[in-house]
Amino acid sequence: MTSPAQLIPPLLKEIQPYGATLVAVSKTKPESLIMEAYQAGQRHFGENKVQEIQRKAPLLPSDIQWHMIGHLQSNKVRALLPYVFMIHGVDSLKLLLEIEKEAMRIQKTIRVLLQVHIAEEETKFGWDGDELKKAIQGGMLDTLKFAKVQGLMGMASNTEDSQQVRSEFKALHTLYTELKNGVQICANFDTLSMGMSGDYPIALEEGSNMIRVGSKLFGERTYPS
Ligand SMILES: *Cc1c(COP(=O)(O)O)cnc(C)c1O
Repeated sequence: MTSPAQLIPPLLKEIQPYGATLVAVSKTKPESLIMEAYQAGQRHFGENKVQEIQRKAPLLPSDIQWHMIGHLQSNKVRALLPYVFMIHGVDSLKLLLEIEKEAMRIQKTIRVLLQVHIAEEETKFGWDGDELKKAIQGGMLDTLKFAKVQGLMGMASNTEDSQQVRSEFKALHTLYTELKNGVQICANFDTLSMGMSGDYPIALEEGSNMIRVGSKLFGERTYPS
């Protein structure tokens, strides 16, 4: 297998014109592979299980910025917060308020992205766009001091139909732009996390500025996650 250290520089070059940040998704992968990527200069890594971040983070350099990209349960927030730089999958008000409460408890500001449901599949978590706009207009985010809502995250349908993927990304970008220009959410509302190994070129064309790439860098995962 080609090493992540060889794959990262060309990928960074490819995404550089878009001003995008690469989150290297290392879920299920060993610390040794993460270190190869680290030595190539990579600092943002994504995981989707709290226990896995808890286990890996203490074994790896402390300047790694861990992104929680998976579905997060409210009762795991406390365990996660000390390790994590950004939480991508905030899909409910309940979870957002739990993050605020726990972040206040340890006096740590934490970047969060609201996950919006853009795919056709019923199984993907996330806010519906209109529901989110209503909640924001209703002042939902005004009281947050420690959970900084910095942008949106979405996953397109898992399909070969690139037109569908493109239109889903386009819709998310439109919502992102509306929120960024229209409502005062957070001074740093500047992150649109969309695009994975299979669809990041389309996501970048449609306005993504943060991509989450796993298998293209670290190889296929042996068990689905
Ligand atoms: C696993 C995962 C990724 C990376 O997927 P690849 O297809 O391996 O690049 C990106 N985002 C989320 C939310 C994931 O769970």
